Amino acid sequence: MQIHLKTLGCRLNEAELETWAQAFQTKGHVITRDISTAQLVVINSCAVTQDAARKSRQLIHRIHRENPQAKLVVSGCYATLNADEAQNLLGVDLVVSNKDKENLVEKSLSELTFETMPAMATEPAEISLFTRGRQRAFVKVQDGCRYRCTFCIVTVARGDEVSRSIADVILEINALHAQGINEVILTGVHLGGYGSDNGENIVSLIQAILAQTDIPRLRLGSLEPWELNDEFFTLFDNPRLMPHLHLPLQSGSDAVLRRMARRCKTDEYEQILERLRKIPNFNVTTDIIVGFPSETEEEWQESVDFIQRCGFGHIHIFTYSPREGTKAATLPNPVPHEIKKQRSEQLHRLAEEMKRAFYQQNAGEIFSVLWEGQREELPNGNVQVFGYTPNYLRVTCEIKTHESLENKMTNHELTRCFIGT
Ligand code: SF4
Repeated sequence: MQIHLKTLGCRLNEAELETWAQAFQTKGHVITRDISTAQLVVINSCAVTQDAARKSRQLIHRIHRENPQAKLVVSGCYATLNADEAQNLLGVDLVVSNKDKENLVEKSLSELTFETMPAMATEPAEISLFTRGRQRAFVKVQDGCRYRCTFCIVTVARGDEVSRSIADVILEINALHAQGINEVILTGVHLGGYGSDNGENIVSLIQAILAQTDIPRLRLGSLEPWELNDEFFTLFDNPRLMPHLHLPLQSGSDAVLRRMARRCKTDEYEQILERLRKIPNFNVTTDIIVGFPSETEEEWQESVDFIQRCGFGHIHIFTYSPREGTKAATLPNPVPHEIKKQRSEQLHRLAEEMKRAFYQQNAGEIFSVLWEGQREELPNGNVQVFGYTPNYLRVTCEIKTHESLENKMTNHELTRCFIGT
């Protein structure tokens, strides 16, 4: 899906826009500068003066006029202070208040109905470093995929697997590290297929990076849960490889997985989880497609039960919609829209519970946190800053206004879980 983002007001609004852009891209969407091609427009409004509030209203009108088909999400100070007014403005589909900003991406994708699934449900996409001073970079190591999951357009759009050489990847990581980047995330359309065309594999790539770079944190992007050999799991003995994997499951019903032509069924998935759970505080996150063609009530329940057993730290939930050119688009018995919506809502609730449980499970532990640049002023004159633990928990702490933790790694005890409170 193409998304256009617009902001009015302060630097903080701009920084939030960047965070949302990154999150939408991670879910496979494309950020566009062109309003007319966008299916979703997000406006971060401002109300610092009467004039700013007026400009926010005008902007909303203008965008709706220019692209009345696009769904319109409004957040920021104007939308928070005048929620009812904003909600009633022509064209506004969703208002997200400032206190919910962190969930804006999730809310927009779950509460609004769009025609199509993301073009690349499993690809974290190439995410640019928006501004200098960022601490994390994405390094794409391969393209293409040799599999044919029936819902996926990637194989059609991207063709055969092509891997970069290890030397090339190492060169890039060393250059990023020299520029002050402290964490790199390896990405690929089918990351696990790395090396299928050059005699290497994902294990040899990670080993080489850990040996030939000093990058403090190495993280893996979305990885299909197959082709992972015994040696792969031992790589996490090195604390520089972050204990977090995003392993797309797509469904917890074997019958649905068969229709999707997935290579990993629930049994094998469970075995992988068992191995990963032996690694302290390991976080497994996943993708689930809701309402795949012919998904019966029984299959859905089976899927929910399995997902619950897995206990994910986070779930990207995609409501199925047919994508032209895929085999799934030709399958019979589409699931009615209302049922897809109900299932999606049910799964969102479960995902939230599981996330909270995972955070609570980690409370009391000490983690090294890599701090980001985002700062929020507090009423007591201090500022709140945000960062990520190695297992990808988003955490926050309060510091004095003249202090900065940006791009530093410091040890902290996780004291309290704020999710959903
Ligand atoms: S493994 Fe399946 S879902 Fe992943 S890129 Fe290949 S075809 Fe698409």
